[in-house]
Amino acid sequence: MRKMLLTTALAMALASAAPSAGPSGLKAKVVAGVDARAKLAQVITDSVFSFSELGFHEDETSRYLTDLLEKNGFTVRRGVAGLPTGWVATWSHGSGGPVIALGSDIDGIPKASQKPGVPYHDPMVPGAPGHGEGHNSGQAVNIVAALAVKEQMEKANIPGTLMLWPGVAEELVAGKAFFVRDGVFKGVDAVIFTHVSDNLSVTWGQPAGTGLVSVEYRFTGESAHSAGAPWRGRSALDAVELMDVGWNFKREHLRPEQRSHYVITDGGDQPNVVPSTAAVWYYFREQSFDRIKQLYATGNDMAEGAAKMTGTTVTRRILGTAAPQHFNKPMAEAAYANIRLVGLPAWSADDQAFARQVQKNIGAPEVKGLDTRLDELKAPDKEPKSGGSDDIGDVSWTLPTITIRYPANIPGLPGHNWANGIAMATPIAHKGVVAGSKAVAMTVVDLLTNPRLLAAAKGYFTSVQNKDQKYVPMIGAGDKPALELNAATMARFKPALAKFYYDPDRYPTYLDQLGIKYPMLVDTPKP
Ligand SMILES: [Zn+2]
Repeated sequence: MRKMLLTTALAMALASAAPSAGPSGLKAKVVAGVDARAKLAQVITDSVFSFSELGFHEDETSRYLTDLLEKNGFTVRRGVAGLPTGWVATWSHGSGGPVIALGSDIDGIPKASQKPGVPYHDPMVPGAPGHGEGHNSGQAVNIVAALAVKEQMEKANIPGTLMLWPGVAEELVAGKAFFVRDGVFKGVDAVIFTHVSDNLSVTWGQPAGTGLVSVEYRFTGESAHSAGAPWRGRSALDAVELMDVGWNFKREHLRPEQRSHYVITDGGDQPNVVPSTAAVWYYFREQSFDRIKQLYATGNDMAEGAAKMTGTTVTRRILGTAAPQHFNKPMAEAAYANIRLVGLPAWSADDQAFARQVQKNIGAPEVKGLDTRLDELKAPDKEPKSGGSDDIGDVSWTLPTITIRYPANIPGLPGHNWANGIAMATPIAHKGVVAGSKAVAMTVVDLLTNPRLLAAAKGYFTSVQNKDQKYVPMIGAGDKPALELNAATMARFKPALAKFYYDPDRYPTYLDQLGIKYPMLVDTPKP
């Protein structure tokens, strides 16, 4: 008897120490539903990769995704929030029940065109945009999860609504604040956002990174013959250069956590004409609403000063904004429990060899292949590290939100670069998408079937997150999305890119269509 007790105790101790046994009940069913849709996950990932569209012009992408959702019973509303490529797809079962929204970005990066599966720089179309961020994969995660959950909601008669939506022009942080402003999330209980990564993870509180204001300053002066009568001109380009010089001196006296950078979008026409117009586009990034506003105000002062120095005038236009992010603790804890049940994908020797080849070729800090250990769920840093922004921040201050990051890319890449596109239509991305989709599907099951979780999520949002800081929208009722951005680039490259659109009816995978053997293990060719 005593021995039996001991054995039972030992068995229980072992069970709790051992890796999780895997999901059960409804969660096991949605996980099986995701596995059954692994082919669909690959087709969506590869298709969106092949469209290679920039922000505001995700036309093929949005058409493809919304058609797919309509074919699967979702009701689609297009052109939401003044964004031609913005849409919302909903499906409900029964009456009432929670409304759970799944979002992910869909846009690419300028000049990031890259053949997937080739471990060195080899663009599909030289100079063209590409998925050098990996935004081709998130909608595959969400759609596959939603379809697996939908199937079980029907079978088990679980009431609720699933809503899918895209992050439009995330690389310009220029879509989600408009979704929020125009009430797209009204009536929604919780948002699960998904983003490509090299591990399967989730966080709560304020993560590393910043929020930002993206603003273009446009100076106007007077043209004149640059040699014949330069004293009659007032150079708008001088104003841009003086503003930039002023800002670069100012940097020394700003917090190290700030991030600010600019590109000159109009530098005049030709040297013999004093530029009568010039423009410079700034991102001002900081870690709280107040600090972003301060930084932005400093930028405005500097623009006014530059205008005064040059006798020009200046106007400004906000092109995008992102609130600092804050993620929901109860939702993150529920998601992490599911992440532990999923674990990282079973990478093959080929996947690992390919990842190492890419890391070697691009000079990554470590040549260590793909992650095989799950990231932990940690309490947020008291002083979060600085870094990039994501306008999911605006959503995260509107309703309980988490971002689930899934392992569809290789660690150690530079980001916003052609190299980040290499893995994004290979087995690495396909496996990572399936793993992410399982974590999302199980967390949706939690939110649909556990009212206490949803109540805790709302409690955290209201009483903890909103205690010291409140959402400060950076756009007003009159602001419009800068839809003209990227238009010329897409018009220029779309015909060439269209020749490479993925045809899933003819080819099992996009690599097959391109005739690229996986894994391609070669060093960067010598020029
Ligand atoms: Zn992103």
